[in-house]
Amino acid sequence: MPSVEDVLAADWLGACRRAAQEIRAQLDRPQTAAQRRTETGVVGEGGDRTLVLDQTAEDAVFAQLEALHEQGFEFTALSEERGEVHFGGDGTVRVIIDPIDGSLNAKRGLPHHALSIAVAKGPTMADVVFGYVYDFGPHEEWAARTGEGTTLDGIPLIERPAERRSSDGRLEILAIESADPRYLHLAGELGDVARRLRALGAIAVSLCQVAGGRVDGMVTLWRCRAVDAAAAQLIVREAGGLVAFPAFEDPLGAPLDLEPHSPVVAALSESALAQLATIPAPMASR
Ligand SMILES: [Mg+2]
Repeated sequence: MPSVEDVLAADWLGACRRAAQEIRAQLDRPQTAAQRRTETGVVGEGGDRTLVLDQTAEDAVFAQLEALHEQGFEFTALSEERGEVHFGGDGTVRVIIDPIDGSLNAKRGLPHHALSIAVAKGPTMADVVFGYVYDFGPHEEWAARTGEGTTLDGIPLIERPAERRSSDGRLEILAIESADPRYLHLAGELGDVARRLRALGAIAVSLCQVAGGRVDGMVTLWRCRAVDAAAAQLIVREAGGLVAFPAFEDPLGAPLDLEPHSPVVAALSESALAQLATIPAPMASR
């Protein structure tokens, strides 16, 4: 029987790549706007209405998980639509899946929507050992393993991303997610922190932009779920960035489950991280 270490060392990257390729093939099929919008009629474990696309993407991921399980690997999967699915074992190894992060973008034909898969050796964000995000808009693959750094399209990011500030000291570009305009009203003073905002519409993708040094920070205005952030938060940290879940005293103490617990913030310096942690609506951190 493979040990926990064996399970963690399994070819997760290969499994993720095969799933991403399958989903990409589905997405590349000519579709009418109505087809993209088709819902299955059920609400996923994450609480959103499931699109046919979400479900077929999840099926592609689970086909890979079943193949790994057939090789003897045991783990518990947590996925946005299906919820918790046991593939044997004692639950130590968790696989956290968002088949499509940014479903609304996918539904409307906007570019950024991503497959997000994390593998963890325990119950919190700090335990994630592998992260994979495939952005189907620009066709970019972000991946990280603890202690091994982050890769973009298979190439290691050698340079630690540098923070850029405008002459008045504000971050040059800040990505915001959970960008419901009602939360903007409740948020802290974004204008004191950043000179420009970008709202891409997918939490995992926005976090990856921090890893790539394309934005100087990222904040969700409301609580995010582990499925949205688990993989990308490791991608940021392994690239040299910083991540915190401000509702928790331990910045990486957010649990790997299906409930929205805390906003997530990411930055390239301690001072920016502390500043960004004050932005989400105060009730989002309760
Ligand atoms: Mg999703």
